[in-house]
Amino acid sequence: MSYLYTIDQNTKINLSGYSTDRIDKISKEDAAAHTSELGTDLNILQEAMYAAATHSLLIVLQAMDTGGKDGTVSHVFKYINPQGCNVTSFKEPAPDESGRDFLWRAHHAVPLKGMMQIFNRSHYEDVLVVRVHDLVPDKVWKRRYEQIEEFESLLDTDNTIILKFFLHISKGEQRERLLAREEDPDKAWKLSTNDWHERLFWDKYVDAYEDAIGKTAVKHAPWYIVPANDKWYRNHAIAEKLVSVLKHYKPEWETSLKELGERNKKELAVLRARDPRLAKEAECEKERKG
Ligand code: ATP
Ligand code: MG
Repeated sequence: MSYLYTIDQNTKINLSGYSTDRIDKISKEDAAAHTSELGTDLNILQEAMYAAATHSLLIVLQAMDTGGKDGTVSHVFKYINPQGCNVTSFKEPAPDESGRDFLWRAHHAVPLKGMMQIFNRSHYEDVLVVRVHDLVPDKVWKRRYEQIEEFESLLDTDNTIILKFFLHISKGEQRERLLAREEDPDKAWKLSTNDWHERLFWDKYVDAYEDAIGKTAVKHAPWYIVPANDKWYRNHAIAEKLVSVLKHYKPEWETSLKELGERNKKELAVLRARDPRLAKEAECEKERKG
C-alpha cells in the first residue's frame, strides 16, 4: 500500500500527473489513529538509532509556500525525543552564507551519527527560487543538480539515510490557505505578502520542481511526492514512510546495541576486579534485593 509517490531514479517529471488529493481511501479518523501508532514506532526507532549511533537521518522538506512544511514538523515529529532531532530552516542566505559555495550551509547542518535532522527548505532552494528569479546565471544553477547528487552521495556513503519529501498542493489549495491566513487572527502572523507575490511565479516553480525532483532522485536519496491538500493525509503518509524505511535498519541497530551492552559489562567486570570496593557494593545490593 502506498500513500505517496516514490521517485528513486532520474526521470522526467510532470507534476500535473501526480495527485495533490489523497490517493488512498483511508478515512480521516483511521489515519489519525494510525498516525499516532506510527508515532510510537517512530519514537522507538529514533531511540534505537540514537543509541546505536551508526547512522543519521536527513529529512528534506520542500513545498510551494503554504505547502505544510511547518505543519509536518510539528505534527509528525512531535512523537520524537527532542534531544534526538534538530530542524534547520533555510531562509534567504545571510552574508556569511552567500559568500560561500551554495552547499556550505547545508553541509554545516548535516546530522551527527544517531541524530535526525530536518531541513525545512534546503540546498534545493539553490535550484528553485534561485532559478525562478534568475539569481545566478543559468550555467551556474544547471551545474548544481550534479553537485547536489555528489553531495548526497557523499552523505550516503557516510551512513546518512536521506529522505526527500515534496509536499504537493494545488494552486487552488494555496489560494485557500493564503486567504485563511488573512481571515483567521490566529494565523495572521503567518501572512506574508511575499507568498502572494511568489504565487505569480507558480508555473516557473513547477518547472523548477520538476527538474529538481527528476534530476536528483536516486535509490539512496529518493524523492517522495506527497499528496498534501489534506493535512491529516499528508501527516499520515509521511509518518508511514519514515517508519517503513527506518524499520529495515532496526535489526542492525539492535545488534550494535547488544555489542555495546556486552562491551560495557566487560569493562565493568574489569573495573570491579581491580577495585574490591566496587565489587562489594554490587554484591551488597544483590543481597539486599534478595
Ligand atoms: P514560513 O513562511 O512557513 O515561516 P518559509 O520557509 O516560507 O516558512 P520565509 O522566511 O517565509 O520562510 O521564507 C524564506 C525565503 O527564503 C523563501 O522565500 C525562500 O525561497 C528563500 N530562500 C531560501 N533559500 C534561498 C536561497 N538559497 N537563495 C534565495 N532565497 C532563498
Ligand atoms: Mg514563507
